[in-house]
Amino acid sequence: CFLLFLLPPMYDSGTLNPQQLSSDPRENATFVTLARNSDLDGIMGTIRGVEDRFNHRYNYDWVFLNNEEFSDEFIKMTSQIISGEAKYGVIPKEHWSYPDYIDKEKAAEGRKKMEEDGIIYGGSESYRHMCRYESGFFFQHPLMQDYRYYWRVEPDTLLLCDINYDPFKYLRVNNKAYGFTIALYEYMATIPTLWEVTLKFLSSFPEYVHPHNLAKFLSEDGGQNYNRCHFWSNFEIADADFWRGDAYQNYFKFLDRMGGFFYERWGDAPVHSLAAALFLDRDQIHFFEDIGYYHPPYAHVPENFLERGLKCTFPEKRTFDWEGYSCMRHYYSAQDMELPPQVDRIYW
Ligand code: GDP
Ligand code: MN
Repeated sequence: CFLLFLLPPMYDSGTLNPQQLSSDPRENATFVTLARNSDLDGIMGTIRGVEDRFNHRYNYDWVFLNNEEFSDEFIKMTSQIISGEAKYGVIPKEHWSYPDYIDKEKAAEGRKKMEEDGIIYGGSESYRHMCRYESGFFFQHPLMQDYRYYWRVEPDTLLLCDINYDPFKYLRVNNKAYGFTIALYEYMATIPTLWEVTLKFLSSFPEYVHPHNLAKFLSEDGGQNYNRCHFWSNFEIADADFWRGDAYQNYFKFLDRMGGFFYERWGDAPVHSLAAALFLDRDQIHFFEDIGYYHPPYAHVPENFLERGLKCTFPEKRTFDWEGYSCMRHYYSAQDMELPPQVDRIYW
C-alpha cells in the first residue's frame, strides 16, 4: 500500500486526451482534393511529392471529390501511390447546381460581361460551382464527415521542402484552426459586393465577430473598405469543424442567398479568409512559414532554408512573400509580428 506512493507515476491519464491514448499516432485528419478526371496527370506528381516529403511517414488518408464519377484509371493510378487509404466520392447534385432562387439569365449575363472584361475564369460556369462548393460544401461530404482536420491539395502544386513534423498535430496541440502559406490581393472585379454583403451579415450577427480577431488584415480604414487581402485557399491545413460551426454556416448561407457565387465570381479564398479573420481568435490562424509551397505562378519559400537545415528543392522562383502583390506584410502587421530583418534590405 505504501509502496504505491513511492512508485513514480507511469503516466497521468488525466492530462492525456483520447487522441493521445489511442494506438493510432495519427490525428483525425485527411488530405482532400477536388479534381476532374482530366486532372490526373497534374495530381500524380503532386501526390508523389506529398508522399515523399511527408506522408510516407504518416500514412494519412486522402479523399477525392468530383462532380462526376472518377474513372477507373484515376482511381487505380492515384490509390497506388497513396500510403494511407484513398477514398473517392461524387458530389451530391444539390451542392453543384443552381439553387432555385438564382436567376440563371442574370447569371449568364454576368458571365458574359466578365468574359468581355477579360477577367480570369470570368465566363466559366463550372468555376463558379467549384468556388461555391469549396466555400460551403466540401467539408459536408459523407467521406469528410469522419475527419476533423484536412489538408487541401490541388493538382499541379508542389511541396518544396521535407516536412518533418505533423502539421495536423501542430494545429490541434496549439489550438489553431486555419493554416496557410500564401496571402495575396483578390481581383475586385470578382467580388464587387462581397464586402458590403459581409458587413450586412455582421450587422445581423455581431456576436460572431471574435473580440480578438484579425480584421486588421482585411481593412486599412477600420472596416469601411476591404483591402482585398486573403489567404490563398488552394493550400489549406485547417479544422473543418470551424466551417461546420454556427458562425460560418450562417455566413455561408447568407452569402449563398445573395447569389454572388453566380452573379459575380466570389472565390472560396476570400470567403474562407473573411470568415477566418473575423470569426476566429487571431491566435488560431497560423502561417506555415516552414512549409515550402508552389502553386503556379507563386511560391512560398521558407526564409534561410539552407541555414535552417530545411531540405528544399532549389526554388525556381524566389519567395512571393514580399513581392508587391503579396499580402504578407499586412498579415505580419495585423498579427503584430516583426518583419524578418532581411526584408527591408532585399526588397526595398
Ligand atoms: P485556380 O487554382 O483558381 O486556377 O483553379 P483550378 O483550375 O486549380 O481549380 C481549383 C480546384 O478545383 C482544383 O483542385 C481543380 O482540380 C478543381 N476543379 C476546378 N474545376 C472543376 C470542375 O469542374 N470539376 C471538378 N471535379 N473539379 C474542378
Ligand atoms: Mn489551382
